[in-house]
Amino acid sequence: RLNRTVERIRQDFPILARTVHGKRLAYLDTAASAQKPEQVIEAMSRFQREEYANIHRGVYALSQAATDRFEAARGRVARFLNASSADEIVFTRNTTEAINVVAQSWARKNLKAGDEIVLTELEHHANIVPWQMIRAETGAVIKPIRIHDDGSLDLDHARSLIGPRTKLVAFAHVSNALGTVLPVRELVRLARAVDATVLIDGSQAVQHMAVDVQALDPDFYVFTGHKLYGPTGIGVLYGKGAVLNAMPPYQGGGDMIERVTFERTTFKPAPHRFEAGTPAITEAIGLAAAIDYVEQIGFDWIGPHEEELLTEATQALLAIDGLKLWGTSAQKASVLSFTLDGAHAHDVATILDQQGVAVRAGHHCAHPLMDRLGVAATSRASIGLYNDRADIDQLVAGITAVKRILKL
Ligand code: PMP
Repeated sequence: RLNRTVERIRQDFPILARTVHGKRLAYLDTAASAQKPEQVIEAMSRFQREEYANIHRGVYALSQAATDRFEAARGRVARFLNASSADEIVFTRNTTEAINVVAQSWARKNLKAGDEIVLTELEHHANIVPWQMIRAETGAVIKPIRIHDDGSLDLDHARSLIGPRTKLVAFAHVSNALGTVLPVRELVRLARAVDATVLIDGSQAVQHMAVDVQALDPDFYVFTGHKLYGPTGIGVLYGKGAVLNAMPPYQGGGDMIERVTFERTTFKPAPHRFEAGTPAITEAIGLAAAIDYVEQIGFDWIGPHEEELLTEATQALLAIDGLKLWGTSAQKASVLSFTLDGAHAHDVATILDQQGVAVRAGHHCAHPLMDRLGVAATSRASIGLYNDRADIDQLVAGITAVKRILKL
């Protein structure tokens, strides 16, 4: 068992020891991408140095061992999500690609004019734009569920929108811009009652809480490796076996076929039919190492640790004159989105950077949400398992410096 203290955990992340502009780094942008522990860096490096070969092809030992490692990574993801089989795990490049697979394969085949796709007002563009492309092709209709001013979902509106014409309900498990945790079970129940298919975007959830796809029961659950302390270039599409196997391939090529002639081609069953071409082998192994790492620390430690920092940071920010915090619903994870009266979000982030504090500024790939809130951009501090009190103190001191420099 690891010594689960944040001091100990920080030592696993080499980048946290560096300085930025001569200042201690307070990395508060984990919602955009998480830093990587030595265990992930080392697993990928060792594989590349000692075990690398292409997979699913070679009869030679190296290729077979690499294939085993890749397929073991798939199994690791399946256990992480409590999927009933590794065959329900499709590797993609990221969340964006996972949602596009569902749009281009499942939706294109199953939706027709007048069918309704229900989303929410707080979706990331990755869970909006693919559906607009499907709308343009099929004539399907998009209906967003409203949110309340505090960033929580308007469940009454959800109940009124989800009805007999609803074919798909697709929503974030946790909002990247506000941190709101959505009422997943209730939304799945509403969708099931009308036989709609469910997709959950878990990009901002899997790094903070244990996710059990059999308990939540969506048809699809997607996430991206780089926000889970793993590498970029690897993402996950979980789909129920029967649903995946009824879907046509998304891309064609090698590795996804059973037999090819110029007249016709037959495809492998899921997940392989959705993995055309050489996949991100090293990155899949890195993702498995990241999952090992996170589970070794355990959500029983990560959850309360992040919650404590979030509460502390929320209180500290609310005490700052002229600061507005966006997203204050009771069910919330790890994200502090804020604006300062009289300051542009980008100026705030730029001055914070001078203090060594890394936060994101902008629209967080959620234009419709920003429109709904009536704000052009926010600065966003987000918390990961390696953040500590000193990071929060540095953020608060940084904001004080911003106010002094901008004379607010
Ligand atoms: N959905 C949500 C909720 C996200 O936070 C993100 C990443 N910002 C994405 C989708 C897209 O992830 P990726 O860019 O890795 O595909």
